[in-house]
Amino acid sequence: MKSPIYMDHHATTPVDADVLRAMLPYFSDIFGNPASRTHAYGWRANEAVEQARQSVADLIGATAREIVFTSGATEANNLAILGVCEAYGQSKPIHIITQATEHKSVLDPCTVAQSRGHRVTVLPVDRMGRVSPDTLADAFCDDTVLVSMMLVNNEVGTMQDIAAIGRLCKTRGVLLHTDATQAVGIMPVHVDTLGIALLSMSAHKIYGPKGIGALYVRRRDPRVTLAPQIHGGGHENGLRSGTLNVPGIVGLGVACILAKQRLHEACEIARLRNLLETRIRAALPGVIRYGDPEQCHPGNLCLGFDGVNGETLVLALQGVALSTGSACTNRDLAPSHVLTAMGVGNRASSGNLRFGLGRGNTEEEVLAVADMVIAQVTSLRRLGGRS
Ligand code: PMP
Repeated sequence: MKSPIYMDHHATTPVDADVLRAMLPYFSDIFGNPASRTHAYGWRANEAVEQARQSVADLIGATAREIVFTSGATEANNLAILGVCEAYGQSKPIHIITQATEHKSVLDPCTVAQSRGHRVTVLPVDRMGRVSPDTLADAFCDDTVLVSMMLVNNEVGTMQDIAAIGRLCKTRGVLLHTDATQAVGIMPVHVDTLGIALLSMSAHKIYGPKGIGALYVRRRDPRVTLAPQIHGGGHENGLRSGTLNVPGIVGLGVACILAKQRLHEACEIARLRNLLETRIRAALPGVIRYGDPEQCHPGNLCLGFDGVNGETLVLALQGVALSTGSACTNRDLAPSHVLTAMGVGNRASSGNLRFGLGRGNTEEEVLAVADMVIAQVTSLRRLGGRS
């Protein structure tokens, strides 16, 4: 059977051939534990880890010492939020501000923080999925220590104005954590320009391997203190114990180098995304686009089709691999919490498709996918009684 056309790059990306090539020796010849300081096996592994740390730092304008390797963005988000609560909330509870459209790996640790006595404000978003800086300014309290706002939303692709949020946080002396999983390596991200204190990222969204990511932890102006959430041998400067995943870390490092060289590819990906939207809209009435079409992820296209259920449509579209929303939570068929927060009703939000275009998608694929979508939506609408 022919493989479906892959348009689910927000869920994960294929591992780049150069990334894989760079990783392979670390599964075989260079198998040492980087914490082994008494022999060359350990030294070589450690050298590779430190090289990768520098590559990750270079991509976001950080220094290598500010990078903590984790198992992915979920762990990085947990470490940032619960680590800040524990470090800054020792004597009295703290206040955290976040927004309703965050990934569950931010919202759930916030709920845990709440269960431990901390206060959490979840800000509403507008129809584009964005928090206004004024709403944020009004939410600050004397005990606010942390704001956690994602840079790019994984369902609708909306970019937050993190620079403005960063400036506000700075004037209030509040730490800004951003889940930049869908932004780093896709668009330029610089921690100083954006006023970021903590940043989460993941390799498998940028053509690297799964199971590896990083948390950026600012060391100056201000120096951020974190309490580790995984305890043991004191690896990663005491912030994340456990033997390092050397092949994964090497893969993340190379993925970051390649991403930096290929940031310009975003223009072509956006062109293909726009072509897909134009083709579909030209042939079908009743198509709604969710999220901000201007300030958004170059490969994201989140569409709703009047009178068509998203799950049914995805199942009918056998020739293309895509999602109805976030692949991370879509085992349950509840309406997306992101679209619900954006004020899109349950009926409408059950009808969306999330296209995630990426490196490797071609114009030919886009035209084929547009044809498939047009045919299936037309046929489902006919079955549903609409002409
Ligand atoms: N945050 C966002 C915005 C994401 O899209 C994802 C992955 N779907 C995550 C966090 C979790 O990343 P990981 O798979 O590396 O744990």
